[in-house]
Amino acid sequence: MDSITPGTRPARALTRRRGTAYIRLHYKTLRFPARQDDQQHRTMLAEAQTVLHTWCRQSEWAAPTITGGRGAHLFTDDGRSILDMSSLAECSNLGHQHPQVIEAIRAQAAKLCFVTSAWGAEPRARLAELLLEKSDLSGGRVFFTLGGADANEHAVKFARQAAARPAGWVITRDRSYHGASYAAMALSGDSRTAQQVDAAAYRVIHVPPPYAYRCPFKTRSAEDCGTAAAARIAATMDSQGAQQFAAVLMEPNAGTNGIVAPENFWPAVRELTRTRGVYLIADEVMSGFGRCGEWFAWQRYGRENAPDMMSLAKGLTGAHAPLGAVVVAAPVARLLEEQALLTGLTYSGHPLSCAAGVAAIESYQREGLIERSRALGATLLRALQELQAQHTIIGDVRGGHGLFAVVELVRNRDTREPLAPWPQLHPGLRRLLKEALDAGVSFAARGNLILLAPPLVIAERELADALNLLGRLLGPLAQTLRTEDSS
Ligand code: PLP
Repeated sequence: MDSITPGTRPARALTRRRGTAYIRLHYKTLRFPARQDDQQHRTMLAEAQTVLHTWCRQSEWAAPTITGGRGAHLFTDDGRSILDMSSLAECSNLGHQHPQVIEAIRAQAAKLCFVTSAWGAEPRARLAELLLEKSDLSGGRVFFTLGGADANEHAVKFARQAAARPAGWVITRDRSYHGASYAAMALSGDSRTAQQVDAAAYRVIHVPPPYAYRCPFKTRSAEDCGTAAAARIAATMDSQGAQQFAAVLMEPNAGTNGIVAPENFWPAVRELTRTRGVYLIADEVMSGFGRCGEWFAWQRYGRENAPDMMSLAKGLTGAHAPLGAVVVAAPVARLLEEQALLTGLTYSGHPLSCAAGVAAIESYQREGLIERSRALGATLLRALQELQAQHTIIGDVRGGHGLFAVVELVRNRDTREPLAPWPQLHPGLRRLLKEALDAGVSFAARGNLILLAPPLVIAERELADALNLLGRLLGPLAQTLRTEDSS
């Protein structure tokens, strides 16, 4: 994810000389007694110099320090309030610093911080029960992980074990993102990491996505694109024999690739995997917990289109604590029942994270946030379509089943020429993000896409203000492109 934030100049290094500590800044050296101010000291040792940050060149990382948050807002150490239009990494679905989740973590910490999964833990049992209930997969089981990547890895492990196909192939999509561990990179069809891993060595095959706006199958309608993309999955299996395959792993709705599958795609994939005896794994890491207007995005297609497994993370705790999960449906759970599960994670089902998960689910429910996301998602989509009517730079608007929508920007609406080759960020769009941030709103963009995924608690007024700002900033961006094109 590329996002732009104005930076503070970082401190360089900490040195000590005869009881005195020095922090060398780019411009000057601060001097103060070492022991007394150790605490202050640490906060002054700038993160830009000490931490390896994700998805960026280290020398370019320059972001403000976030010191707190409330609802859809984040607070910076220089006293600013920023409206978060992406729920950070599409994970803070409940908003920032949700009081009930914080209280649940506090209460659990006072009682029991940790016990391995060799022992029982109350919040773990309760969370598993809630997940099976919300997904309507009763009789199933839940395996807890630390995040989304290891949830996807374990889902694949379980599929291969339950199918008794230890080397079974897994089909995923080009342009998908399933995490950054090695196996998750292999599962991902992500050009940023493709060079780091040999997907075939992990027995993963990528197929073209149902990207209707730029359909790889050159179809004329979204429905035809969905049909063609599903048919390719079937053909891929049939060409080698379906018994060679363990699973198809896909996002039922969008991911950060901004592809929202046509309505007929998921049911078609469910049908073709069922008839061929291959498991279907829904990667709900991003799309779950109300993001797409349902507890889990596949539920839009009804119980008959339930996956065999789903992987979860992000909204599972509303990002208040790290946690992922694989939910396996009853038939898979039965197959695994008498087999040794030769896998594990020290922190599997960590009580603090599970307590956060229980409080998160109770909060989604108590506050009606799934329904709220569905209603506000429709408002969001309508507002974006109005912007599209005013700005030819908007080629496509999609999503809006919940508070997740994608704006695809183009140089020319007729030719659909992108602003920059995927996944590059055009400098004009980079500037737009910075100007929005200066105005107090954080938008996320990737390639030519602006991804709108605010916390589900965002106030309607805040949402409207953010979209008005976006509208105001699109005019100058379009002007930049016109100047570029004419020079
Ligand atoms: N799957 C999807 C759809 C995601 O969007 C992500 C993260 O963005 C992941 C998996 C990986 O999750 P994590 O970063 O928790 O490993």
